[in-house]
Amino acid sequence: METAADLAGCHPDQTTNPERYNLPMKSRILTLCAIAAIASAQSNKKALVGGTLIDGFGGPPLRYSVILIEGEKIQAVGQVGSLPVPPDAQVISTEGMSVLPGLWDMHVHTMLSGHSDYTHWDKTYPPQLESVIMPATAKQLLMAGVTSARDLGAPLEASIHVRDAIRSGKIPGATLYVSGPFLQHEPYPGTEYFRWGIKGVDDARAKVQKLADAGVDCIKMIDQDQMTREEIAAIVTEAHRRNLMVVAHAHRPNEIRFGLEAGVDDFEHTGLATAPEYPADIIDKLHERTARGNIPPLYWTPTVQVLYNYDYIRDHPEIIDDPRWHEGLPQSIITDIRESLRHIDQLEYFRMVPPRKPTLKHKFQQLRESGAILLIGTDSGVPTQFHTQTTWNELDIWVHAMGVDPMDAIRAATFWPSAAMKVDREVGTVTPGKYADIIAVRGDVLRYIDLLQNVDLVMKHGTRYK
Ligand SMILES: [Zn+2]
Repeated sequence: METAADLAGCHPDQTTNPERYNLPMKSRILTLCAIAAIASAQSNKKALVGGTLIDGFGGPPLRYSVILIEGEKIQAVGQVGSLPVPPDAQVISTEGMSVLPGLWDMHVHTMLSGHSDYTHWDKTYPPQLESVIMPATAKQLLMAGVTSARDLGAPLEASIHVRDAIRSGKIPGATLYVSGPFLQHEPYPGTEYFRWGIKGVDDARAKVQKLADAGVDCIKMIDQDQMTREEIAAIVTEAHRRNLMVVAHAHRPNEIRFGLEAGVDDFEHTGLATAPEYPADIIDKLHERTARGNIPPLYWTPTVQVLYNYDYIRDHPEIIDDPRWHEGLPQSIITDIRESLRHIDQLEYFRMVPPRKPTLKHKFQQLRESGAILLIGTDSGVPTQFHTQTTWNELDIWVHAMGVDPMDAIRAATFWPSAAMKVDREVGTVTPGKYADIIAVRGDVLRYIDLLQNVDLVMKHGTRYK
């Protein structure tokens, strides 16, 4: 591959053996080399060359791929031999690697970092959420190859400020799409700063307006089976009027029934506790919903790995010692989190997980067969769930436990999330004109999906972070 330095004849022997040249010649070459080096460093062109590209559309991978990037955007996609690399582009070899769109995680909690005691966390760390914890976890996501994440449930101002600081390039981190506070019937005591209670239809509308005016990217509902049907309808209608999707918990049957009735766009978790399957009337309602072609598809983020991996992490807790999740956190918080996870086997949070585990695969299958579009999301940040690991864990469980084709799993972590957030014209696939959110990992991820635990290259909006 020719670079500007090649064209200027800047080979090491020429620059390090000045006696080969008389002074004017040496000066001239050094000047040319300096110009070329500056051009290459300052030119905002990059080329990812040689790897196998999985572009996010689901078609066959493209070998010997060339991705040309200029500034923040992808300029061209082609192959070695047919797509020339501009001489002033910085060439990054992806030989031997899978190259794919940056991953999305559609259900994270940047205000949490694996601590087991919510009551303690919620009263101890509010002053450090915006300044320390959310920036640290957003960066951990990015370094894990997650270039975009949907943050579902955090204080409003902190959510907006951290999201905007990342968007403007002030701090590194995954591009965040935030809901701000949960909307629910009654906030749990001590959580009012990130959970807003709804008292009547007017209040429902007013709270959505307040969130929309502040600039959130979606609305998050929880415990909606405790609200009135009118309140739920007011939330969804007002959100849709403001072009915001509504994401709702699906823990209990009536959360799903009422949510479907009101027009919720995306359900979270597999839910229904230890029950073996979704009841027939819910499946019928899902079929009615997924048959409607005149509105966006119904999305569902099943978040299975947190449950599926519980007993593994309980018995093999090496992950708790992994320094990757410490990054950006002060030692006092790291120690606090570690202390809280000394007896994973005794955590009440996970008490019902072992009896739920055998029901997960069937429920996951029911959801897939219902025609809902399933998305990769993880509940990252809840006890034991560090932002450095959850997303690849979810992909791994989808492929190895739920029987999902690896290409479909990758699509659920790239293209489909971007479509759900209505930004598929900007991100989600490796396509000319879109932002250069790209990761690369040595080896074939379609054969070994868990290679995604060690992403070699992370690029977001054309900037290389890893
Ligand atoms: Zn959650």
